[in-house]
Amino acid sequence: MLYLDDIKILKDKVAVVTGASRGIGKAIAISLARCGADIAIINRGNAQNSEQTVEEIKQCGAKAKAYQCDVSDFNKTSETVAKILEDFSTIDILVNNAGITIDKLVLAMTEEDFAKVLDVNLKGAFNMIRHICPIMAKKRYGKIINISSVSGIMGNVGQANYAASKAGLIGLSKTVAKEYASRNIKCNAIAPGFIKTDMTDQLNANVKEQVINAIPMKKMGETQDVANLAVFLASPYSDYITGEVIKVDGGLFI
Ligand code: NAP
Repeated sequence: MLYLDDIKILKDKVAVVTGASRGIGKAIAISLARCGADIAIINRGNAQNSEQTVEEIKQCGAKAKAYQCDVSDFNKTSETVAKILEDFSTIDILVNNAGITIDKLVLAMTEEDFAKVLDVNLKGAFNMIRHICPIMAKKRYGKIINISSVSGIMGNVGQANYAASKAGLIGLSKTVAKEYASRNIKCNAIAPGFIKTDMTDQLNANVKEQVINAIPMKKMGETQDVANLAVFLASPYSDYITGEVIKVDGGLFI
């Protein structure tokens, strides 16, 4: 079998992946690197984790550098994009993956809980797109991938803020796809179901069992399941696909 990474299909491309210090973002960053792309990773705080990701990317033969930046901060994202441009000269691929949860029922959710999740998950993606789209538009090339969630499609008890942010990402993706199609920038969203990461480790055993029972494939997904789709959407194999939302959920939402 021929894998996309065997033919270095992303050779000479530069990818920015947010939230790549661990979990899904880390798997995406390493998978893009295996396909030949150089990688700038962004995370909020934990430099130890991000340096570990950088080392693993370098082992794939790619150039890699980590940047600490809170994606919800418009000015900081602007400065970080400028630094990435200095270090890598261009940006071809943007993966907006950084995300958080603050799960509570609506009646217990504070204004801050709601605003914080929207700020990181939705405004964070807008900030990155706002600063990177002009670079892509100028070179008439770009692939943007926003990591949404099935929660944004079907809603989820205890996740009013998270589901709203992830539904918002779908609207953002479709709009960017329409606005920038003429500049050869494609923008798609991935909607993972339940994937094994620190985020889902927080769920208690009962909730996990209920979740797995609700999934037709009867198991949680691996980070690599999401990364495989991200590689496809970043590659020329998906060049006529834009404005799509593709689920990676073991059939959870059919
Ligand atoms: P995770 O393991 O909790 O990792 C989150 C990543 O986002 C970390 O690298 C973290 O950086 C970074 N991050 C958080 N807030 C940030 C901020 N303000 N600025 C910059 N970086 C920030 O999460 P995950 O499970 O891999 O999820 C990744 C994405 O997939 C999220 O958008 C999530 O909503 C989405 N998703 C996940 C699942 C799932 O089942 N896991 C399902 C659907 C969708 P630090 O290390 O510095 O904190």
